[in-house]
Amino acid sequence: MDSGADFIGHFIQGERVPGVGTRRLPVFQPATGAVRAEVTLALPEEVDRAVASARAAFPAWASTSALRRARILFAFKELLERHRDELARLVSDEHGKVISDARGEIIRGIEVVEYACGAPELLKGEFTEQIAAGVDGWTLRQPLGICVGITPFNFPVMVPLWMIPMALACGNCFILKPSERDPSASLMLAELLHQAGLPAGVFNVVQGDKVAVEALLRHPDVQAISFVGSTPIAQSVYTTGTAQGKRVQALGGAKNHLVVMPDADLTQTVDALMGAAYGSAGERCMAISVAVAVGPIAEPLLEALEMRVRALHIGPGTDPQAEMGPLVTAAHRDRVLEYISIGVAEGAQLRVDGRTLQKAQWGQGFFLGGTLFDQVTPLMRIYQEEIFGPVLCVVRVPDLNAALALINAHAYGNGTAIFTRDGGVAREFVARVQVGMVGVNIPIPVPMAFHSFGGWKQSLFGDHHVHGPEGVRFYTKLKAVTQRWPAGVEAGAQFSMPTHK
Ligand code: NAD
Repeated sequence: MDSGADFIGHFIQGERVPGVGTRRLPVFQPATGAVRAEVTLALPEEVDRAVASARAAFPAWASTSALRRARILFAFKELLERHRDELARLVSDEHGKVISDARGEIIRGIEVVEYACGAPELLKGEFTEQIAAGVDGWTLRQPLGICVGITPFNFPVMVPLWMIPMALACGNCFILKPSERDPSASLMLAELLHQAGLPAGVFNVVQGDKVAVEALLRHPDVQAISFVGSTPIAQSVYTTGTAQGKRVQALGGAKNHLVVMPDADLTQTVDALMGAAYGSAGERCMAISVAVAVGPIAEPLLEALEMRVRALHIGPGTDPQAEMGPLVTAAHRDRVLEYISIGVAEGAQLRVDGRTLQKAQWGQGFFLGGTLFDQVTPLMRIYQEEIFGPVLCVVRVPDLNAALALINAHAYGNGTAIFTRDGGVAREFVARVQVGMVGVNIPIPVPMAFHSFGGWKQSLFGDHHVHGPEGVRFYTKLKAVTQRWPAGVEAGAQFSMPTHK
């Protein structure tokens, strides 16, 4: 499959199409710093073309039986599995994450396809016979129409797959606007969907930046927007989209805390923190970026972490030994570097400085060493803001109440975790913490496809979490039907409010 073209264009009406305009951006290979391709940035007229293609495809797709839609998704799942390694290499090449991690994101995406294959079951309504004499009532879920996905760079396969299979299973057409930083995987997903038998126009890809997003948000034929990205953009997409009368779910940024209780198993906790803070170079919305050390565990925890962070194996995604790859772009690495300087200026104690770990073999790649801050306080910007890089901040607190107060006061509420051997403490933490996804001795508590994913507070704008049962609700409209078949002429017109006899 041709996935590494020099110019990355759109996918409309069942085929790849180059962009018509001259607006383009470079797409890098983060491990070398080289430009691997250029991505086309759509003009509003190209967005119109994609929407027109979806509009034409919608009536037939919406009236295709859920069973037939599911069969296409079954075929798509098989194709994803067959092309999994190719897709993982492509993700790693443009994003920088290590191949094993890229494979993991593809598997998590496939799990949503598997869930959506249950469309005939998922779309079953509720029926009540005889709600009144000779009257039956039931509900059904119908598709919305054209749904749009706007996705971030950090999971170029998994996040689109949180949306696409759910929207399609429910009978919608879908337009994906992927991140302009790693856009190639979106085209491979489109080709595999069409190989699986999806009719042309049901799924289109429009590459682009805010120009394309604005055009989609304001297009009168678009009914719903699923957004995943940073909080300022999530909030603005939510505000604009809902003001246009669209259904919007907009998932934003995060600052996830892992609480380490004094009784926690130190080895297990340190392993968990290393993977959750430095895996994918910290570029995960569920990454742990704050460790909250409770009481006397702080010093042994920091000593163990310090040793492990210094020993991190950093290298290109293709290196099977690598635990962490480069950051996605030089600009993003510079932003993370700036945060390290801010933390030092704010008075946090830099226990491991990733800036000093530069290695000659990294060349022009966008690498940065793992960084560990101690003595971080809630007033510091490195505590309040999302850094989205391999930087772990440790905050010391005296007890569980202080840990909970800290987390609950934070603007973000995506994920959190507690490590302890005490069931009562864990139970209290789960009940009181103001965060959407909670792990007990699990550092990254990403819900499985058959549950739903979503944070609280500034981490999600809208009423619905993604995939799972919430995904079915988001991508369908509920219709309630009340029916009777009178045998003949009954008592004439009724002017009072009908009540059920
Ligand atoms: P981003 O907000 O920069 O971009 C996300 C999408 O919005 C992209 O498709 C981008 O093209 C588009 N976009 C960017 N600027 C825009 C603008 N001004 N107007 C309209 N659209 C615009 O996010 P990113 O850097 O690609 O991804 C990282 C962010 O995503 C982090 O904040 C991370 O926490 C968040 N994220 C959240 C979740 C979650 O589930 N809550 C999951 C993954 C990533």
